[in-house]
Amino acid sequence: MYDIIVIGGGPAGLTAATYACRAGKRVLVIEKNAFGGQITWSPRVENFPGFLSVTGTELGDKLLEQAMEQGSEVELEEVTAISPEGKSWHVSCESDASFEAKAVILAAGAKPRMLGIEREEELVGSGVCYCAVCDGAFYAGKPVAVCGGGNSALQDALLLSESCSRVYLVHRRDSFRGEQKLVEALEKKSNVEFVLNARVQAFLGEEEVRGLAVEQNGAERVLPVEGVFVAIGHQPDLGAFADFLDRNEQGYAASGETCLTRTPGLFVAGDCRQKSVRQLTTAAADGAVAALAAVQYIDNL
Ligand code: NAP
Repeated sequence: MYDIIVIGGGPAGLTAATYACRAGKRVLVIEKNAFGGQITWSPRVENFPGFLSVTGTELGDKLLEQAMEQGSEVELEEVTAISPEGKSWHVSCESDASFEAKAVILAAGAKPRMLGIEREEELVGSGVCYCAVCDGAFYAGKPVAVCGGGNSALQDALLLSESCSRVYLVHRRDSFRGEQKLVEALEKKSNVEFVLNARVQAFLGEEEVRGLAVEQNGAERVLPVEGVFVAIGHQPDLGAFADFLDRNEQGYAASGETCLTRTPGLFVAGDCRQKSVRQLTTAAADGAVAALAAVQYIDNL
């Protein structure tokens, strides 16, 4: 029996594990994809305190190393259900593995939001991508589009401009939500074109993407691209835990800065929680808060 099971091995979950271990608790972190979470998709992080510049994977590795150094155990598994049993929790995984703990911290992050355009799902892997760091190399020398106007889209466009012949940055408004510094860096790139006030209409091509139809300022336009990188934010995936949490309209777990849920022994941290700022720093902060709340809960059992 663990003291605490942390579901999700991103900055929130790994920070929670580090804090809980340092409080003397036996901790297991369960991650379904890659330790480090969403940050492993970021080519360069320059706003995490203490690091002038670090790649997302390096930062993820360091967070994992730190949690394990403090004694945290880790498993690569997909959690499919949790259920309270007396004063403990039963955590079931897709592989049929299961684990027990006195408290659970849900730090499951969020998954990429889809454009919702016809054939989007069918073309994933055949021109439609959600991670420039992971898939950018497949499009070296080819024209691509990046959709979105936040930091993810700006960073993806910068990264892709290094290897792709042309990068169209398609955004639905005339100004970007992401950092001005990134916008300025993109403006200096001769192979980057901003396609503003534009909405994606359709993916062109039969089995692979061979163009992107957009509507820009009321006129139709076809961008001659072979890859479309969708970077329009993320959404939580908390369906498996819905019985024990309240969720807001967007599906995020309703919880204040205390990281408590309506169910005793269940805590929530990071991007899957309702909050106004979703950053690495706020995720890490949540991890600490949730871990200390869970420690206090266990000590009072
Ligand atoms: P985001 O900041 O929420 O931006 C999403 C962008 O997609 C917005 O520009 C939005 O347009 C657009 N969008 C949303 N739904 C759309 C739709 N259906 N069709 C077309 N466009 C749509 O998401 P993000 O860029 O993934 O960033 C998430 C958080 O992580 C942010 O806080 C960001 O600062 C942070 N981040 C940090 C780093 C770093 O280096 N530290 C890197 C990446 C991300 P509108 O602007 O019109 O709403």
